[in-house]
Amino acid sequence: MSFKPANNIQDLQYFGEFGGVNPSISDSSTYTFLSAKTMFDTFEGNADGCYLYSRHSSPSNLYLGEALAAMEGTETANVTASGMGAITAVLMQLCSAGDHIISSRTIYGGTYAFLKNFTPKLNIESSFVDITKLEAIEAAIKPNTKILYCESVSNPLLEIADIKGLSQIAQNRGLQLVVDNTFSPLSISPAILGANVVIHSLTKFINGSSDSVGGVICGTQEFINDLRNVNNGAVMLLGSTMDSLRAASILKNLRTLHIRMQQHSKNALYLSKKFETDGLKTVYPGLSSHPSHNLFKTMMNTQYGFGGMLTTDVGSLEKANALMELMQHKNLGYLAVSLGFYKTLFSTPGSSTSSEIPEAEQKEMGLSDGLIRFSIGLDADIERTYQTMKACMLELGIILND
Ligand SMILES: *Cc1c(COP(=O)(O)O)cnc(C)c1O
Repeated sequence: MSFKPANNIQDLQYFGEFGGVNPSISDSSTYTFLSAKTMFDTFEGNADGCYLYSRHSSPSNLYLGEALAAMEGTETANVTASGMGAITAVLMQLCSAGDHIISSRTIYGGTYAFLKNFTPKLNIESSFVDITKLEAIEAAIKPNTKILYCESVSNPLLEIADIKGLSQIAQNRGLQLVVDNTFSPLSISPAILGANVVIHSLTKFINGSSDSVGGVICGTQEFINDLRNVNNGAVMLLGSTMDSLRAASILKNLRTLHIRMQQHSKNALYLSKKFETDGLKTVYPGLSSHPSHNLFKTMMNTQYGFGGMLTTDVGSLEKANALMELMQHKNLGYLAVSLGFYKTLFSTPGSSTSSEIPEAEQKEMGLSDGLIRFSIGLDADIERTYQTMKACMLELGIILND
């Protein structure tokens, strides 16, 4: 694969007023026009380079959007106030009442809740399928299906979507393939593999400092224009607008994403191998025991590795809770949801981020009570981290002395 997402980000140059090395932050919600005619043209979408009102677009948001489009290899992108702001806008833009969505059954809890509980109010129905089974997806397509929806690396089970295979189905059947790439920025480039729309929660790895909430929609100029349309655009009308100051700060963090992802991936691979050797049921796409390890290898931009997320099953919720509390006490990381922080974060998805999913369905998809989801941090000395984690697991009888 010759796609170089980090080079594409690095090659962009935006200077600030007065020659600043960072672009200036546009600290305005509205913009003046020298002529009434230009204002009218801007309203009609016919005045390139003019700004009207910051819910529609602003220079800072455009800078960040263009950098993320460069990363994903799409024509353009639109940033939003949150990942959910991106997901809901895309789904509402592409679907009308009476339409049908096919979604992976293992997805972010908020997305699942939106499809399961919210869109039915608008007469939009969803089928949840095992995204690793292309036949099951084909079989679920109905005459009114509009969207195939998945995550490249799914939350929390780390199932891998065959994006090329899915895009083939989408193309043949006239569907839009929408991929949430939050878990695998830089590692996987869904648009290059055939996805029509790529979404991220910027809140996670891309911003990487757990201080901001944000999202992005990457796609064609035509689709992004549709989303921004003042008459019927979902981003424009639903109003999940990112603040300019946030856009500026996320853009600065984006510049170190390639270095961070390499370290997250290196540390996660190290720990997953150790956990597996210690006899823990461990899921990480970089392990050859992962059912989609080879598939991931065919899709990945190699230098960024298999990502920072891993799961391990310690047997029961009680043990999981005890381990997480002890690891936090030893300053190995934090008992917290979210991901992509410099510190390791851990939580039990069954009782937190995926609690929207009914218990019976959790069981069916393999989401067990003792499953701990780790977002592995940027630890400089991962060997030391492992030794301390192992001591915690020995103390709690999760692993036994060899
Ligand atoms: C966090 C997350 C979201 C939602 O993003 P917010 O920024 O919290 O709205 C969507 N998808 C995935 C995979 C996530 O991890």
